Amino acid sequence: MTSRIKRFAAASITTAVATLGVTVANPSPAAAAMTICYNTSQAPSYASIANQAASIWNNATSNLTLTANCGSNLRIYQITGGGSYAVRTSLGNGRVYIDTQQAQQYSPLRIMTHEIGHILGLPDNYNGNCAILMSGGSAGTSCTNPYPSSTEANRVTNLFAGTRSSAAERAADAGTMIFQDSWPAAPATVG
Ligand SMILES: [Zn+2]
Repeated sequence: MTSRIKRFAAASITTAVATLGVTVANPSPAAAAMTICYNTSQAPSYASIANQAASIWNNATSNLTLTANCGSNLRIYQITGGGSYAVRTSLGNGRVYIDTQQAQQYSPLRIMTHEIGHILGLPDNYNGNCAILMSGGSAGTSCTNPYPSSTEANRVTNLFAGTRSSAAERAADAGTMIFQDSWPAAPATVG
């Protein structure tokens, strides 16, 4: 009986759409975006860079809205020496530290989007490929790409949507959800 009703309803919709001459591209409502508030009060030199990085992540994902100074899910700091790094306390929450010396060698925007990537759930992938945001410093100082690959961006979207549900994905995420990591000068210095 249920399937008959569903079929009937579907047929009716199809008929109605055909009658109106329109196409229903996406009948399901979009999920509400999750807001991640970032605070740059402790990183005055990088507030503009943080805004650019937020725009990149907002454009690359379908369910996130990184917004400046509306709260403190993500606190951004600038430090001198020691390397840039991220401390994620939970998905979408944590702290990012930008090393001002390192940001003179490497693209500061790439560092910022990379470290925010950790806050959004991504692990490092030091494969030296500049097209991969999470390859970080392994791609060298000449690499200025600040954009996540589609694979990286989709992984973030799926993490926030809660749809990374395979056993392999859960196992991969479990080891990386709370961590501290640094942007190395070379792959050999990964700690
Ligand atoms: Zn990293």
